[in-house]
Amino acid sequence: SDSHFPIPLSPADVDYAHHFPHFFAPAEPDRGNGMALSPKVRFADVGCGFGGLLVGLSPLFPDTLMIGMELRDKVTEYVKDRILALRDSNPGKYENISVVRTNSMKYIPNYFEKGQLSKMFFLFPDPHFKEKNHRRRVISPQLLDEYAYVMEIGGVIYTITDVEELGDWMRSCLEEHPLFEAVSEEELETDPVVKLLSSATEEGQKVARNGGQTFKAVYRRVALHEE
Ligand code: SAM
Repeated sequence: SDSHFPIPLSPADVDYAHHFPHFFAPAEPDRGNGMALSPKVRFADVGCGFGGLLVGLSPLFPDTLMIGMELRDKVTEYVKDRILALRDSNPGKYENISVVRTNSMKYIPNYFEKGQLSKMFFLFPDPHFKEKNHRRRVISPQLLDEYAYVMEIGGVIYTITDVEELGDWMRSCLEEHPLFEAVSEEELETDPVVKLLSSATEEGQKVARNGGQTFKAVYRRVALHEE
C-alpha cells in the first residue's frame, strides 16, 4: 500500500539531485548566491514498467531529465538497477533517466510543478475493462485536468494500447478535454518519439511479437484564452 513508499509533500521536497547527480553540480559556497536554477524533469513515463521507453529516449534527448513512475516495488527496483548498470557500462550516458515508486493516480502534483513537463507517456496502461473500474484508468477526464496542470503549453501527451476499447476511451477523453488538441498525422510522422511508442517498451515488444494491433492517441496541451 501507499504507506510503504515516501510521498513528497511538494515538488521541492523531491531529491532530484539524488536521481540525477551529473546534472546537479555540487554547491560552491564561495561563489554566487547559491540561487543557480536546478534543472527540472521534463518528461514523465507514467506506469513505466521495466523502463524500456526511458532507455530508448535517453540518447535521443541527452540533456533532458526524464523520470519513470511505477507502482510495483520489485519492478521499480529492477528499473533502478537497470539504469545504474547502464551508467556503469556507458560512462557519461543514461545520466538523464531515473525512476520513482509511486501511485501516479494520486501523486502527480507532488512531483511536478505547474507547466513543468513537456512530454508525458502512457504506454500500454492496464485496461480495467469493467465499467465500474473505468475510474481506475490512468487516462480519465479528472486525471487529464491534473496532467494539463503539470504540462507546459505545447507539451505533448503520448498514449498507446493494444486494447481497442481502451484506445477509444483514451482518445475520446483527450478529444473532449478543452486543454488538449490532436497532433496532426504529418507531425506524428516526423516525431522520432512516435516510433518508440510501439517498439521500445517490454509490453510493446510483446504485442509486436504476437502480431497485435496498436492504437495511439497523441495530443498537445493547448492554452485557454485566459492563460
Ligand atoms: N509502460 C510499460 C510498457 O509499455 O511496457 C508497462 C505497461 S504495464 C501493462 C502497466 C504498468 O503500470 C505496470 O507496470 C503497473 O505496475 C503500472 N501501474 C499501474 N497503475 C499504476 C499507478 N497508479 N501508478 C504507477 N504505475 C502504475
